[in-house]
Amino acid sequence: MPNNVIEDLDPFDIAVKQLEKAAKVINLDKQALEILREPMQILTVRLPIKMDSGKTQVFTGFRVHYNSARGPVKGGIRFHPQETISTVKALAAWMTWKTAIADIPLGGAKGGIICDPKKLSVGELERLSRGYVRSLGEYIGPEVDIPAPDVYTTPQIMAWMMDEYETIVRRSSPGVITGKPLEIGGSLGRGDATARGGMFVLREAAKRKNVDLSKARVAIQGFGNAGQFAIKLVKELFNSKVVAISDTKGGIFLESGIDYEKLLAHKKKTGSVIGFPGSKQITNEELLELPVDVLIPAAIENQLTEKNASKIKAKIILELANGPTTPGADEVFYKNGVVLLPDFLANSGGVIVSYFEWTQNVSGYYWDIDEVYSRLDKKLTLAAKEVLDASEKLKIDTRTAAYTISIKRVADAMKARGWY
Ligand code: NAD
Repeated sequence: MPNNVIEDLDPFDIAVKQLEKAAKVINLDKQALEILREPMQILTVRLPIKMDSGKTQVFTGFRVHYNSARGPVKGGIRFHPQETISTVKALAAWMTWKTAIADIPLGGAKGGIICDPKKLSVGELERLSRGYVRSLGEYIGPEVDIPAPDVYTTPQIMAWMMDEYETIVRRSSPGVITGKPLEIGGSLGRGDATARGGMFVLREAAKRKNVDLSKARVAIQGFGNAGQFAIKLVKELFNSKVVAISDTKGGIFLESGIDYEKLLAHKKKTGSVIGFPGSKQITNEELLELPVDVLIPAAIENQLTEKNASKIKAKIILELANGPTTPGADEVFYKNGVVLLPDFLANSGGVIVSYFEWTQNVSGYYWDIDEVYSRLDKKLTLAAKEVLDASEKLKIDTRTAAYTISIKRVADAMKARGWY
């Protein structure tokens, strides 16, 4: 399959192509592949919501359970005006591979409501969130499906949803949803979990590649939740030097290194990273091609493509963003010896700490922050090792290697259950 064909497909077609490619490498049983090609269950809901005007508006929502062979399914809820069932199905598939690569006893799911949350009042948002949970009913639950925040959904929305669920089942059930505020059962360490998890994966890759992180130069694309914690943690944990960072308005370069606290203050004051004292302005394209040791895409998808892949000079790419690299670029990186740490491994720290939150909720015993960090470290160091080992052993790119591990784990669970 030529890569440019894959790049033109819709999200679910891409997810299926990725599955098929890895299935071929491990010679996956045809029946197992047939099961994994589509979600196990898809629910579409219509939600009549009373708006502040007094009129009813009907919203459409989805919840997809992709595969539950390894345990209850888990995945975020997105509130987005362009939400489609194809996107939700693809994201549910990717959650299945993400929970499997992290080796946590959960399957994959995803959900969403077609809406523009920026146009809703707080009251409308609360009624919509509660209405979604009422229509899902027993389709979610701590032993069934455990949602979490995603695009445009927040800890406050998770709190309303948990409250609505508990009202329906008439008992305390904090394990129904993760990403909750701390006061009602959220976990310590959830805020920076994605970036922190990425750091443990990066450390493992640096060891293999003989990159001394204390002397490494780093470029980061994006200064949102993922990018901000990445610039902070790469310095805090490894003393690496971040020489470039960007946002939608463009990028900045500073040879002597960018101070996180000062940059945060500058961004708060001006609304952008641009104009940071002492820095030189660069474009987002230039940032990606800088001569650095580590490149961290932490913004949006399709940034590293067949067009620019051969110009990338970084030795290691840590994909904190989802889908920043196209399939064509993957192959170029593999050929050029660039170690690419694929998104569903590199950014799985968030779902791992979500799993910790659920574990704490169902056991009723809450961990301190060191416990959360050390368990996250153990899980991701092992997962990174397994992916890098598989890539070396099978002589395939790291993304396909990671897929082979995840798919085999899910297929083995289905086999043990007698599904094929
Ligand atoms: P965010 O909205 O907080 O931040 C996104 C950042 O990217 C902003 O700084 C924005 O200015 C910048 N940006 C947008 N378009 C850009 C462009 N063309 N060039 C350069 N910068 C651009 O989002 P986030 O939560 O940080 O998520 C970023 C990525 O990480 C997404 O792909 C997301 O799916 C992924 N991710 C995030 C988490 C998490 O816990 N936040 C978890 C898993 C995956």
